Amino acid sequence: MYPHSHFIATLFLAEIFVRLGYISHRLAIVCAIVSVLVDFDHLIEYCIVYKRFSFKNAWNVCVANKLHGRTAVHRVFGIVVFALATLIISLFSLPWAIVIGLGYFSHLAVDLLYNVWIKKSEKMVKTKLLGFLFQIRYTEVTFDIIMLVVLYLVIYM
Ligand SMILES: [Zn+2]
Repeated sequence: MYPHSHFIATLFLAEIFVRLGYISHRLAIVCAIVSVLVDFDHLIEYCIVYKRFSFKNAWNVCVANKLHGRTAVHRVFGIVVFALATLIISLFSLPWAIVIGLGYFSHLAVDLLYNVWIKKSEKMVKTKLLGFLFQIRYTEVTFDIIMLVVLYLVIYM
């Protein structure tokens, strides 16, 4: 999934916690940013594999599926670390535990959704913008639109 899809989906889930009175709108946005930052492991993996730093090249390599794609952060190690971190943070601050826990686990849920459903669809938009490669599947665009609608509903209804 692209960063914007993680952001929108996590913001929708975080806004439910806003409605329930657990976190503020500002923390909901931080939570969505946390969800996007989980994919920073791809940049680190790129630097290790290609032995150089380039955000643009790392992006394009990821989009073209030339990296392994699932580092420790996306596996059992990451799940255990973030579950423990969420648990420890919850002892001090429930809102921040929600931000970290929801940010990470919603990222994994969206990635799982991508792997079992969206990745299988063939039709996609391929384009390059400022040197950044984009290969967005129609199903991901549909997912984004649905998430934007439900995000709107949870905020304004
Ligand atoms: Zn991911």
